[in-house]
Amino acid sequence: MGAGETRGDDRVSQVETAGHDPSVRDRAGRDPPGPRWPPAPSCLSCDGPVRPGSLRCYCCDRLVRTLGRPLAPVATACAYRVGEQAHRWLRAYKDDPSPAVRTVTARVLAERFDAWLRWAGDDLAVRFGGPWEAVATVPSTRPGRHGAPVDVLVRSVPSLAGATRVPLVRASAPVGHLVADARAFAVAGGLRPDGPVLVVDDTVTTGARAQSAVACLRLAGWRVAGVVAVGRALDPTVGPWVATYWAERRGWQVPALLARDPRAVAPGRLDG
Ligand SMILES: [Zn+2]
Repeated sequence: MGAGETRGDDRVSQVETAGHDPSVRDRAGRDPPGPRWPPAPSCLSCDGPVRPGSLRCYCCDRLVRTLGRPLAPVATACAYRVGEQAHRWLRAYKDDPSPAVRTVTARVLAERFDAWLRWAGDDLAVRFGGPWEAVATVPSTRPGRHGAPVDVLVRSVPSLAGATRVPLVRASAPVGHLVADARAFAVAGGLRPDGPVLVVDDTVTTGARAQSAVACLRLAGWRVAGVVAVGRALDPTVGPWVATYWAERRGWQVPALLARDPRAVAPGRLDG
């Protein structure tokens, strides 16, 4: 091992330590306000947390193996822990029993997602190898009466609404938690393959569904730019590398409004 590699390892372990140093949080009374240097290591494919020394996270590693082909890059607007408010927003827009709450949460999420897409636009273009011309959404496991919730969301996001839509539908192959399959979805309609296509979903957990959609599009001849999602589900207790990533990303990526209870945000009071 060369001296440079040793220094790199030292830096990684310093970041891990900083992420767990209670004094870092105590001084400000909250989590550190933004990214620190060096940044927490992230997965080459999904930009999620990765064990120090690894290029890809466990999920992407498994997905590459099951698919047998390269993954598309993934970017998300916010990271969330299951059960916290950002997660409740992403549930509410799909599943809340009140149509008014579903409508309002979808509108707010669309506004915030649009703001993030514009803010991150240059970085996304670099990661995705250029701009996208078309949009495909990952088919929902439970489409609602008015279509898949993510389609409702995309229609409300100004920077996505104008793009050509590539309709994906559910096909025969199952998608497992860590098993992606190009035959899980199919391209509907008679669009001639073109692109690049941006694949959009509301949440990413392992990436299996999104990467299945990517593989399906590629199989049909489309060029895929990458995947974007509103939220990334994380469990910071999985390991110190996840906790470090969480401490760094949550403060500057989770929109402030999403920290509030979705049911407390009444129509007409969206500027929280
Ligand atoms: Zn990954």
